[in-house]
Formats: sequence, C-alpha cells, structure tokens
Amino acid sequence: MRPLPPNATIAVIGAGIVGTSVAFALMERGYRVTLFDRAEPGRTGPSFGNAGHVVGSGIFPLAEPGIGLTGLRMLMDPEGPLKIPASYLGKVTPWLWRFWRSSYGEAYERGIRALIGMNRGAVDDAEALWTRAGIGHMLRRAPALYLYESEASWMSVRSHWKRRIDEGFASHFVGEAAIRDLEPNLAPVFARGVISDDWGIVTDPFEVVTGLFRAGQQRGIAFREAAVTALVPEGEGVAVIIDGEHQSFDAALVAAGVWSRPLAAALDEKLPVEAECGYNITFPGRSGLINRPLVFGDRGVVATPLSPGLRVGGWTELGGTELPPNPARWRKMAEISSAVLPELTGADGAQWMGHRPSMPDSVPVISRSGRHPAVFYAVGHGHYGLSQSAKTAKMIAELVAEATDERYSAYSIGRFAD
Ligand SMILES: Cc1cc2nc3c(=O)[nH]c(=O)nc-3n(C[C@H](O)[C@H](O)[C@H](O)COP(=O)(O)OP(=O)(O)OC[C@H]3O[C@@H](n4cnc5c(N)ncnc54)[C@H](O)[C@@H]3O)c2cc1C
Repeated sequence: MRPLPPNATIAVIGAGIVGTSVAFALMERGYRVTLFDRAEPGRTGPSFGNAGHVVGSGIFPLAEPGIGLTGLRMLMDPEGPLKIPASYLGKVTPWLWRFWRSSYGEAYERGIRALIGMNRGAVDDAEALWTRAGIGHMLRRAPALYLYESEASWMSVRSHWKRRIDEGFASHFVGEAAIRDLEPNLAPVFARGVISDDWGIVTDPFEVVTGLFRAGQQRGIAFREAAVTALVPEGEGVAVIIDGEHQSFDAALVAAGVWSRPLAAALDEKLPVEAECGYNITFPGRSGLINRPLVFGDRGVVATPLSPGLRVGGWTELGGTELPPNPARWRKMAEISSAVLPELTGADGAQWMGHRPSMPDSVPVISRSGRHPAVFYAVGHGHYGLSQSAKTAKMIAELVAEATDERYSAYSIGRFAD
C-alpha cells in the first residue's frame, strides 16, 4: 500500500464524533478534507446524546463466555437491559451468530486485546486531540464509581476486576459506608463498589462534536450537508455520489455510524454493523446530585453529571434503525432513576434514544477497504465511540499517511470477509 501524499483530497462521510475527529486529524496531516453529513454535524446519531463517558478501562467485549444463557435470561426478563423485538429476530440472527462466536476461547481473548489496544490511554488521547482543537476544557478527568447491589452480583464480576488490575488499570474497592460518603444522594442499596481511575467525562457530547467541527472548519475543512448514496472507485481515487451527481477525491473514509452498512455493501464489502439502541433521560439542573460518573452494574445503566443535566441511561435494543422508540423503556428508566437516586422521584427529564453502531465482536473497524485501497472505514465503535474517537483519528491518519495497515490488523474489515 502507498501512503497518500500531503495535499491529496479526502472525503469523510459522516460528521458524528468519529468523522469529525478523523477529519481534524487528517487536516492536521496536510490533507484537503471535505466532510459530508446528511444533517447538522453531531445532531442525528448517538454522538448527540450519549452518556459522555471517556472510558480507558472498558476492555471487555459485550459477548462474553456464557452470553448465550445470560442473554436469554435478560430477554425473558421484561425489566432486563436487553431487548429484541420478535419481528427483528430473523434479520439480526446472522449478527447474533457472529456475536456468539466471539464470546469464547481465542476469539474472546482477541476481542479483549483489541479493546485494550483501543481504550488504554483514551483520556490522554482525547485530551491531546481536543486541546489541539481548542476544546480541551470540555473534558474532565473523573474516576468512575461502579456499584453492585448484592454479594452475588459482585461475585459475578470479580474476575473482570482482577483482569483489569492485572492489565494495569487502577481500581479501588469500596464498601457500603465509603459509597455513602462518596455519593450521599444514592439510595442505600449498594453493597460493593469499585472506583476505576482511567475515566473522564465531557461537558456535553454534542458540544464536543460541534467544537471539533468548528475547529476543523476554521482550519480549512470543507463541509457539505448532503446524504451520500454511494462511493464508486474511480482510477486510483474514488467518487462520492450524491443524488446522481458525482465528486472526485483521492480517497474517502466511511464514518457514517450504523448507516455505513449500505455504503460498504455498494462496494461489495461485508460490514456487519448493527444498530444497538440505547435510551436515556436527562434531568436538567440535577447534575449536582452526583459527584462523579456512576455505573450501576446490576441495571445496565450509567449516570453522568453533564452541563445539560444529570443523564441516566443505557440498555440494548436490537431492532434496526427503523424501529420507533418504545416509551415503556423511558418509563422504566425513570423508575430506575428514582430507585437509585430517590431525589429524582417525579422529576421531569428530556428523553432520548440513539443507535450505537455495534460490531458483533465489539471491536471497531478501523481499516482500509479490502476492495479498494483508496477507501477507508472508521465504523462500529458500539458503546465506546466517544471514548475511542481520538485514538481512531490517530490510527486513520497513520493508515492514510504512513500505510500502517499491518500495525492495525486487529481492526481490519478483512476479519468479516468469510
Ligand atoms: C445511550 C447511549 C449511551 C452511550 N454512552 C457512551 C459513552 O458514555 N461513552 C462512549 O464512548 N460512547 C457512548 N455511546 C456510544 C457512542 O455514542 C457511539 O459509539 C458514537 O456516537 C458513534 O459515533 P459515530 O460518529 O461512529 O456515529 P454517529 O454518531 O452515528 O454519526 C454518523 C453520522 O453519519 C451521518 N450519516 C449517516 N449516513 C450518511 C450518509 N449516507 N451520508 C452522509 N451522512 C451520513 C449521520 O447523519 C451522523 O451524523 C453511547 C451510545 C448510546 C446510544
């Protein structure tokens, strides 16, 4: 593979947190970048309303040993954090099959190693990129507090914490009394806690995308608001197709979140990215109720003190991108919010649902296309797109400018070619 010379033109499709970050890093390398989005940058995808955590210690794939049984139990539980509408089961089965195959043995271990490679140093990477973009103040280093309600739930995750510690992620165990001192507004239901140091939070995820986008524009990145319908190889370069009109570039990057799949399919490339819906509620003026990011281990839910308010959310619904939000999920989320933070009982909040772009092995595709050397992908960051965005930007800039394909083979799209 040949490195792309500086001054070459690059189209970046998708202006969520991943596309805006990569566009900025490519611009810094001297490329002439045009960013395309069908809507206002950061407005329509999960980059808008995520929980705002920058997670260094997130090293476990979603599919883990025993997921078949755990997943079934979650599906049967009407209050469980995993949902698949019956009508979507057929469509999502090939993805679930790959998901299950990633959950054990060497494949599972490979997933952990790839996630360690992505997430270690996430806060430092974000701080470095965002400081260069003039938005470093939007990040705060903030160790997270994981919470467990029973001895049984704690026992079920003990091996995870051991692995994190073995891998060098600082983790401190706390008991009931310490939890009350750290977070006096929590309901007194938490038996065990762990503080994970490798963590940060942002002021507001949408503000971060907007900040990166504006910083890029000021330094010469062009923006076009349009839905890209296809990428077509054109000699050594690539054409971006919009409503039949075509615009030529030396290279293109697909960073359109879960909507990347049809763009890859048009290039005859397998990209099994699936929409994993998450729900949250943001309670304005209530951020002061907690002192740090919280992870409720038994509920599949996190809480973050953000500038728009206290955000409580999470969960997984595999229903594709067309499924409308289910109001019952927000009702349940409001119930959980007041169960863990009684002062939220009866509080009004803004409801939001977003589509995480999730790969079956929980590892993003950060890769050159296997079909055409001038096409690249930065897709499938699942639960960690905000956390991994700065590292992704660095990796794509290296792939394009230095052709470091071998170094990043763990993230290659080629792993789905079978
Ligand atoms: C409830 C919830 C909580 C989360 N919490 C966290 C968290 O705390 N920390 C964390 O790290 N991650 C979190 N995530 C995950 C994170 O939000 C995502 O991984 C991340 O936002 C994905 O970013 P992206 O840029 O790849 O995709 P997107 O945000 O989906 O951006 C893709 C962009 O592409 C555009 N687009 C799509 N198709 C086209 C087209 N054909 N032409 C032009 N433009 C197109 C879209 O309009 C969109 O702007 C959370 C997600 C959810 C749902």
